[in-house]
Amino acid sequence: MFVDVHAHDCNNVSKNILVVNNGLDLESNKRCLELKNKNIRCAMGLYPLEGIKLNEDGIDENIDFIKLHRNDIIAIGEIGLDFKFNKDKRQIDIFNKMLELAEEIKKPVIVHSRGAEKEVLDVLKRFDLNVIMHCFSGDLNLINKKYYYSIPVSVVERKWVQELARKVDVSRILTESDSPYVIFKKRKSKPEDVKEALKKISEIKEINLEKTKSTIFANYNLILHE
Ligand SMILES: [Zn+2]
Repeated sequence: MFVDVHAHDCNNVSKNILVVNNGLDLESNKRCLELKNKNIRCAMGLYPLEGIKLNEDGIDENIDFIKLHRNDIIAIGEIGLDFKFNKDKRQIDIFNKMLELAEEIKKPVIVHSRGAEKEVLDVLKRFDLNVIMHCFSGDLNLINKKYYYSIPVSVVERKWVQELARKVDVSRILTESDSPYVIFKKRKSKPEDVKEALKKISEIKEINLEKTKSTIFANYNLILHE
């Protein structure tokens, strides 16, 4: 099985790929639930740049919805901090709430950390959670050996992603498309692109393709089991 642990609104995928749709707000969490099928899993979260648009009641409404559907989801995501596009420190309170929720309902978290890698790691330190860092673009010295890192499909094209894949141990690597929000080969990314990412990762790691594929699937089953 190929795995795409971070996509949005995927509604159809070939049967040799497992996709995890990540919710960004109440609307997309609801959609995520509807899109579940044999190959499409659901994670629910509150994206930092959506969270700051809400008042406390809006945030609680999101949390209640996720709690209600705890048996339908395999992770809390997408959550995190984004100081590249907005420096509102309220993001940190919201992130803390989502991590408390993950602890309470015992789910792994899928974390966004753009422009706030150090801050994200500082917050995560206070929790005992299984963590997937999505599209991590921080200093490679910040890599936490206990966390999983989902390597975006841009590993095929971008040197900094290749460096990330080189640095993270293969036992902590996952793959993701972040479709449809990533531009890959001058078009929108799609879950199928993880096949190319896998090939590139196997080259970087100097591990044959089948072994790389089975290791990443095993990693998926370890952290994102039903
Ligand atoms: Zn995303």
